[in-house]
Order: sequence, then structure tokens, then C-alpha cells
Amino acid sequence: MSAPAIRAREDVPTTQDAFAENPDVYKTLLESTRAIPWQIDWASMRFAYIGPQIEALLGWEQGSWRTVDDWVARMHPDDRERVVGYCVSQSRAGIDHEADYRALTRDGDYVWIRDVVHVVRNAQGVVDSLIGFMFDISERKRAEEELLRLHRELEELSLTDGLTGIANRRRFDQRLAAEWRAARRSRQPLSLVVLDIDHFKQFNDAHGHVAGDDCLTRIATMLGGIAKRPRDVVARFGGEEFILLLPETDATAAWDLATECMVRIEALGITHGGRDAGALVTASLGVGTAYVDGKATARDFLQAVDARLYAAKRGGRNRIEVL
Ligand code: GH3
Ligand code: MG
Ligand code: MG
Repeated sequence: MSAPAIRAREDVPTTQDAFAENPDVYKTLLESTRAIPWQIDWASMRFAYIGPQIEALLGWEQGSWRTVDDWVARMHPDDRERVVGYCVSQSRAGIDHEADYRALTRDGDYVWIRDVVHVVRNAQGVVDSLIGFMFDISERKRAEEELLRLHRELEELSLTDGLTGIANRRRFDQRLAAEWRAARRSRQPLSLVVLDIDHFKQFNDAHGHVAGDDCLTRIATMLGGIAKRPRDVVARFGGEEFILLLPETDATAAWDLATECMVRIEALGITHGGRDAGALVTASLGVGTAYVDGKATARDFLQAVDARLYAAKRGGRNRIEVL
């Protein structure tokens, strides 16, 4: 009873049979997808085929893709070495692979392409040709780059003081930890200058908080111009406290910079108006220099320099105390 049913099923042509009898089906399918099919003959390194869709994507006509050199020449120079090197080595090893790169358009623009490559071997197992698909991934790349940009912007914001625009406490803490390790390795001196505006509460009382904010911003901007080596950090440490992190800076140089800070704050000429203060806004500073070794911690160093700041306050303000 079941025998005829089986025979009947064998009579139905399979999908493979249909395609084998009519190769145009393959061609139509390949040329109607958005992915662009291609084949390269391994021995001659010539294109055996590339889909006509390539012209719509890049502007170069189908017939202009002759050899692997055409493919290399139409790749962004910055991608060439990486992509060609990778694809050649993977192909030699007979490993399927994929690569992202920027392809040159006829108009001189670039389009992000993902090339997915399959290595075809003959019956003897020798590499015969490469076949693959090129995908237009520019939309995805744009989205990725935008995400990366937003991520960087967010990170930047999270490390910046909202009022003054200089580094915040968080960035300072990160940089101090990193520079502390670097100083231990390099045996170079690491200096800190901690600075606190004198009688700032009275300044606010006299002029209001908006003027107080303005004063803080002016001082922050000025300080940013003093410590300007690439690894220097000028940060807002707290309300009206600022800190300078000075890698590879010895005690003499740190003293000079602290003096410059003190002098230039007064030179801004901001009227103080506080009962206990002088005529102009001033600051008190603590300075210290560390040669990092053994068990010393950055935290202890910071605390010791901060203690010098308070010594400067006790000593009458508008002065510097050294660790
Ligand atoms: P000292 O000389 O001992 O440092 O006196 P001081 O008044 O500066 O110190 P205190 O710690 O008593 O007060 C600090 C003041 O700084 C209190 C606060 O009103 C002000 N302050 C802190 N952050 C800000 C800010 O973001 N904006 C403004 N306008 N004022 C701030
Ligand atoms: Mg303070
Ligand atoms: Mg103060």
C-alpha cells in the first residue's frame, strides 16, 4: 500500500533538480538580492563574476571589475593593508572569513562594505576560487559611530565639572591613581597643588551666589592656563577648592606653579567685600612632591598636601605651605 506513495514522492522534482535544470534561477536570485555576489578564480586572481548590483552601489560598471587589483585599488588606503593582508592569509589557509572596509565610489566617496568570503576547494582539496557577498553596511556603521560619539560625549560629561568646565573630582581621582602608578614605575616626582579660595562664604554673602559662581569659573579658567603640559590635570576638587596634578614635576617647579596660581588669582582683581578678607579675592595653597616607592598610597599623599592647605589657612591665608 505504501510503495506507490513513496514512488510518487520521488517523482516530484527537488529544489536542487529544478535549479540544476535551470541555472537562470540562481542568476535571477543572486542578481535580485541587495547583497552583491562575486567569484574570484584563485589561480589567476581574476573576477569570474560580480553581480550587476555593484554598479548601483559604487558606480563602477560590472565589466570594470577584472582582477583582485581592481578590488584593492577601490579600497580606502587606510583599510588596504589590514583587509588585503587578512583576506589573503585566510584564503591561503582555506578559512572562510569576513572583512569590513570602505570601498571607493566612482564619485570619490566611500561606502562601508562587509565582504563575506567562502573559500571553494576542488575535489583534491586545493583552493579553487573564492566566492562571496558584499553587503552595504554604511547605515549600520553610521549608527555605530553615532553611538560611539554619544558614548564619548557622555563619558566626557561625567568627568567634567558642570559649572567651570574643567575636570571634576572623578577625573582627578582616576588620573591621580594612574599617575601614582606611573610615578612608581618611572621614579619621577609627582606633585600636587591644592588651593582653596579665602573666605569665600563671605564673598557669596557680599555679592550673591551667581557672582560666586562667576568668580569660580574665572579662577578655574585661569588655572587651566597655568598647568598645561599634556598630562597635567586642573580639577575642581570641591566647592571652592581646586587641585593641580603635576606628573614629572619636582618640588621647585611645583612651588613656582603654586606661586603663579596665588599671584594670578589676586591679579584677576576680583573685589572681595568680605568682612575678614582683603580687598581682592585670594586663595591659600598646599603643595607637595612625592617620589613614590614602597607602600605609600596616593590617598596618604593627598591628605598630607591637604593638611598643608589648612596650615596655610591657619597661617593667615593668601599664602603657600609646602609638605
Ligand atoms: P576659608 O578661607 O576658611 O576657606 O573660608 P571659606 O568661607 O572659603 O570656607 P567655607 O568652607 O566656610 O565656605 C566655603 C563656601 O564656598 C561655602 C559656599 O557658599 C561656597 N561655595 C561652594 N561651592 C560653591 C559654588 O559652586 N558656587 C558658589 N557661589 N559658592 C560656592
Ligand atoms: Mg573650602
Ligand atoms: Mg575657602
